[in-house]
Amino acid sequence: MFLPGVDMNRIFLLIGLVTVIVLLDCMPYVGKGRGGRLVRVAVECGVDEVHISGVLKNKYYANHRVTPAGTFPIRLGPKDGKVSVNNREYRGSLEVRKIDGNLWVINVLDFESYLKGVVPCEIGGISERQLEAAKAQAVAARTYARAHIGQYSELGFDLYATVQDQVYKGIACERTLTNRAVEGTAGEVLFHGNQPIEAKYHSTCGGRTADFSDAWSGASPPYLRSVLCRYCTRSPHYEWKKVMEKGDFFAHIRNRLNRINIVLKRGELIHSFRITRSRRSHRIKELFLTTNKDEYKIPNYRIRTLFGEPGDPGGLLKSNYVYVRTKGDEVIIEGRGFGHGVGMCQFGAIEMANQGRNYRQILYHYYRGTRIRRVR
Ligand SMILES: [Zn+2]
Repeated sequence: MFLPGVDMNRIFLLIGLVTVIVLLDCMPYVGKGRGGRLVRVAVECGVDEVHISGVLKNKYYANHRVTPAGTFPIRLGPKDGKVSVNNREYRGSLEVRKIDGNLWVINVLDFESYLKGVVPCEIGGISERQLEAAKAQAVAARTYARAHIGQYSELGFDLYATVQDQVYKGIACERTLTNRAVEGTAGEVLFHGNQPIEAKYHSTCGGRTADFSDAWSGASPPYLRSVLCRYCTRSPHYEWKKVMEKGDFFAHIRNRLNRINIVLKRGELIHSFRITRSRRSHRIKELFLTTNKDEYKIPNYRIRTLFGEPGDPGGLLKSNYVYVRTKGDEVIIEGRGFGHGVGMCQFGAIEMANQGRNYRQILYHYYRGTRIRRVR
C-alpha cells in the first residue's frame, strides 16, 4: 500500500535509523569507544559492599554505597571522563553486577585508556631512555587484551585487573612516560599469521626464556619458544638460592603434593627425587619423586606449585629454572629468574632499551616469527 505524498524510501531510511539507534542503546559496549572497541575489566570481584561515583540518569552520585540488596545491573557514566570505585578513579563507565549474591564492579573503557592503567603497573618505573621498553610492554599488553576479549563473557567481563590477566589500577597509576608509550604505539598488536598472539611476559628469565610447555600443559606455539636473553643479568632475580634442611624439604614437598592432586598412602615416605631437564630452555622437564611404595612423575608446569614458597601457602617457587642438589643434611635450590619465563623478559626489555634497541627489535627478539600490525 502506498501513502499519497509520502516518499517510501525516506520512511524505510527513518525506520532503519531508529532501529540502529535502539540497538546501539541496548548494546552499551558496541561501537562507542575510540577505535570502536571497548574492554570490560573486573575491578572488584565478589564483594558485599562498594562505594561508587558516577552519573546515573543525569544525576551525579558521589561515593554512593551499594550493597547486594538492590536492583542490578547498575550502570554509571563518567563525570569529566571519570568514575570511581572505593575512591580509586577510572576512565570510562561502570557496571555493578550481582553474581551469586555478591557484587562485581566492571569498568568499561576503550582499549588505549585501559592500557595507560596497565603499562606502568606491569613494567614499573622507567626512565626516558627506557621508553622503548614501555612501548614493547604496551604492544604486548594490548595484544594480550585483544586475544582475551570475551574470555569471561558468562560473567559479563573480559579481563581481571590482577595478575590473573594484567594488573590494572586506573588513573592513579598513569605516568606521562608510559602514556607516551601507549600513544606512540596506538592500535599496534602482535600477530602470528592472522591471529593476535598469546603475548605472555614475565619479570626475569634468568638467561634464557621458557617454552610455553615449560609453564603450561599443551604444545608451544612457534613464537613462544625458548630464546637466549643476555639482558636481564642486572635483575635482582637473575640468580637466587634457597637452602633447606633435608627433613624440612621433604615435609614441605609432602604437604604440597595434594595441590597437584597426588595423595601419598598411609606410611608412604619420600626417599629421593631425580630431575630431567629441557635441552632448549634448561628448565626442569620432569621431576620423579620416589617413595618406599611408588614413583611419581611430576611435569614441568607443576613444579612451581609443588615447591611453592616456604611460609607462603599460596605461593609459587620463583621460577622452574632451578637446579636442586643435596649436600649432607641440606637441600640446595639454585634458581634463575622470576615468573613463568615465557615470552618477553621485562628486565631484558629494559636493558635492550638501555642499549639503544627499539620496541620492534625487543618484541621480535622475544616473540620470534611475529609481525606488528595496527588494528582499529
Ligand atoms: Zn631475560
